[in-house]
Amino acid sequence: MQAARWHGQHDIRVEETEETSVGATDVRVAVDTCGICGSDLHEYAAGPIFIPEGEPHAVSGEKAPITMGHEFSGVVSEIGADVEDLSEGDAVAINPILYCGECRQCRQGTYHLCDSGGFIGLSGGGGGFAENVVVSAEQAVPLGEDVPLEHGALVEPLSVGLHAVRRSGISAGDTVAVFGSGPIGLSVIQCARAAGARRIFVSEPRAARRDRAADSGADHLIDPTEVDAVGEILSSTDGGVDAAFEVAGIEATFNAALESTRPGGTVTVVSIWEETVNMPPNTVVLGERTLTGTLAYLGGPRSNEEYGMVIDMLADGTLDPDPLVTDRIELDDIVDEGFESLLDESSDQVKIFVKP
Ligand SMILES: [Zn+2]
Ligand SMILES: [Zn+2]
Repeated sequence: MQAARWHGQHDIRVEETEETSVGATDVRVAVDTCGICGSDLHEYAAGPIFIPEGEPHAVSGEKAPITMGHEFSGVVSEIGADVEDLSEGDAVAINPILYCGECRQCRQGTYHLCDSGGFIGLSGGGGGFAENVVVSAEQAVPLGEDVPLEHGALVEPLSVGLHAVRRSGISAGDTVAVFGSGPIGLSVIQCARAAGARRIFVSEPRAARRDRAADSGADHLIDPTEVDAVGEILSSTDGGVDAAFEVAGIEATFNAALESTRPGGTVTVVSIWEETVNMPPNTVVLGERTLTGTLAYLGGPRSNEEYGMVIDMLADGTLDPDPLVTDRIELDDIVDEGFESLLDESSDQVKIFVKP
C-alpha cells in the first residue's frame, strides 16, 4: 500500500510499504481522513523531535523511516480473533498514544506522560498517511452515530485543546487570552468558550486565522504585527486576563502570554518547542502567576478521558469542526499541497485533511 514516510528533514516520501498483519487483539482500520498537525510540520522542517532516528523507539521498536499521521479516522476493516468490542464497518477515531504500561505515570492512569511514550504516526506503529493501519483494538475509539467520519480526524487536536483548558482550571466568567490561532489555538478557543470564558482575546498575525478564531468564539482579535498585544489586553481588562494560553511556540508569545496575565493568573504552555526562550522569572514570582505545561490528552472513550468527552461534544454541537478545516488533498500531494502549503507564511491554510 501507499504511505507517506519521514526519511529526514524536508524528506517525506509517498512510497510503497508492507501492510502489517492483524494480531489477535488488533484491528485494521481503512483510513478515511488524516489531518496534518503542527508537530508533523516540526518533524518535516526541523526534526527529528518525536521521531526515533538512531535507536528504535522503546514501545514501537521502530525507527526512521516511519509512516506519519496521528490525527485520523477510518472504518474497521478487519478484526483480530480476540476482539469483542468492535465490528467490521465501525467508524473510529484513533488514539495514537503509545505507552509502556509499567512506569509510574502509566500505573496511575496518566499514560500520556509515559517515560517512554510516543505516538502512532511519529514514533512507529504505522500512521494515518497510509491506506490502512493496524492498531491495538483499545486504540480504536468508536465515533458513534452522530459524529461524521471525517470529523473523527479532529478528535485528536480538539482533545489537545480540551486537555489544556481543563488543566488551566478556568471557570465561568473568566477572561482568557490565546496566543496563536492555528488548529490547536482554535481548539483552545472553542473549549474555553464551552468552559464559560467571558471574553476571549486572540493574538494571531495571519488574517485568515483571526477570522477562524472569530468563528470559533473569540471576541477580541489582535494582529500583533500592528498592535502591542500585551498593551491592548492590559488596557482592556482589569490588569490582565485570568488565563493565557501559549500556542505559537516562540519567545515573543511566551513572554506576551505571561505579561498579559493578571497577578495570580495562570499561563498554560501548549506548544512544542524547537528552541529555548529567555524569560524574566520575576514575571512569575512577583505576580504569583502559575506557569504550567500541557501535553496531549487521555485518548480513551470513557467519560473521564478527553477523547470520550470530545466525541460527545462534537455529537451535541458544543464543538464546531468547520472553522478548523481549510482543505482536502490526496496522499500523493501531501508534500507540495500539504506540508509546504502550511509552512508558507502567506497561505490561508489552517488544517489540511489528507484522504489516503
Ligand atoms: Zn497533532
Ligand atoms: Zn509508561
